[in-house]
Amino acid sequence: MNLYGLTKEELEQYFVSIGEKKFKATQVFEWLYQKRVTTIEEFSNIKKEVREQLQKDFSLELPKVIKREIDIDVEKYLFELSDNERIEAVLMRHNYGLSVCVSSQVGCNMGCKFCESGRLKKVRNLEAHEMVGQILVIESLIKERISSVVIMGIGEPLDNYENVIRFIKIINDAKGIQIGARHITLSTCGLIPKIKELSELDIQINLAISLHAPNDHLRSEIMPINKAYPLQELMETIKEYIKKTNRRVTMEYILLKGVNDQKKHAKELANLLRGMNVYVNLIPYNETNHIEFQKSDKETIDAFYRELQKEKIQVTVRREFGSSISAACGQLRSKEIK
Ligand code: SAH
Repeated sequence: MNLYGLTKEELEQYFVSIGEKKFKATQVFEWLYQKRVTTIEEFSNIKKEVREQLQKDFSLELPKVIKREIDIDVEKYLFELSDNERIEAVLMRHNYGLSVCVSSQVGCNMGCKFCESGRLKKVRNLEAHEMVGQILVIESLIKERISSVVIMGIGEPLDNYENVIRFIKIINDAKGIQIGARHITLSTCGLIPKIKELSELDIQINLAISLHAPNDHLRSEIMPINKAYPLQELMETIKEYIKKTNRRVTMEYILLKGVNDQKKHAKELANLLRGMNVYVNLIPYNETNHIEFQKSDKETIDAFYRELQKEKIQVTVRREFGSSISAACGQLRSKEIK
C-alpha cells in the first residue's frame, strides 16, 4: 500500500492493529505533509521497529513528472503512474494564490462530446495517493504552497467516489496539507446518486455542476450522461443539496459557438436557475481537436453574460488559462498518446 493514500483515521486504525498508539498517525502525517520527508527512515520520533514495520507495509512512491510546460500564469504537468498510465494536472497562478486542477481517473467514460478527456475511455480509477501525489510533486517542484484545489482534471470524480473522498480528507486534514474545505472544489457532470451521498458528507467543499445546456434536448446531445440523469431530476437534487448543506453551488456553462450561446439559451438558463442559490460560471471553450466545436466570440460571451445579469442571475466569466500550452482537459495526455 501507498502511505499517501491513507486518511489519518485509517492510519490510526493501522497503528492500533499493530499494537501501537493512535497518535503515531499524527506524527506520520506531520512527517509526510508538514516536514515533507520522503523516506520512512526519517521519521525520527518513531522507534526503529515500528519504522521497519511501516517500511514493510507501505511505499512512498509518487507520480513521476514526464513533461512540464510552463507559462506565465499556468503550468501543465504530465505524470506517469507506477503502471505507466498517464494523467495531467494544471497549476494556475491567481492574484489570491495558487490553485491546482487534479485528475481523478485515467481517461473518462462520460463521453461529453466537446471534451478531450473522453476521447480516451476510462482505463481505471486513480487511487487516493495518486491524487495526493499530484499536489505533493507540484509543491515540491515550485517550492510554494498551493491554496486551493479543483477536481476538474481528467475523469469524473463522482465515478471514483471513495478514493476522491479519501483524497479530500487527506488534503483537508489539519495535520495534512491543510487545504481548507472551502478551497476545494469538486466538479461533476451530474451523477445524481453520488451528489446525494455527497450532501450527507461532513466536509464543506464547493460543488460545481457541468451544466453546459439549459434544456434536455441540447444537453443530451452534448452530454450523454443527461439521458441517465435528466435536467429536472438533476435540478431537484441540487436544490436538496443546497438545502441540506447551505452552500451555494456553481453552475459551469461552456459557451460553444452556435450550439448553446444564443440569447434564447441565456433566457432558458435563467428560468431554469431562478430562485436557486447558485452562480453561473461561463467558460470560454478551450478549442481542442474536436473540430465540430468552436469557441464563442467575445461579443457573444458578453451578450450572454449581460442577458443573465439582466435576469438577475449571478454570473462570472472564467479567466482563460493556458490555451497556449494545451491545458484544456485531457489535451496533453491525448497529444502524447497519439
Ligand atoms: N467530469 C467532471 C470534471 C472534469 S471536467 C465534470 O464533468 O465536471 C472539468 C470541466 O471542464 C467540466 O465543466 C468540463 O465540461 C469542462 N471542459 C471539458 N473540456 C473543455 C474544454 N475543451 N474547454 C473548456 N472546458 C472544458
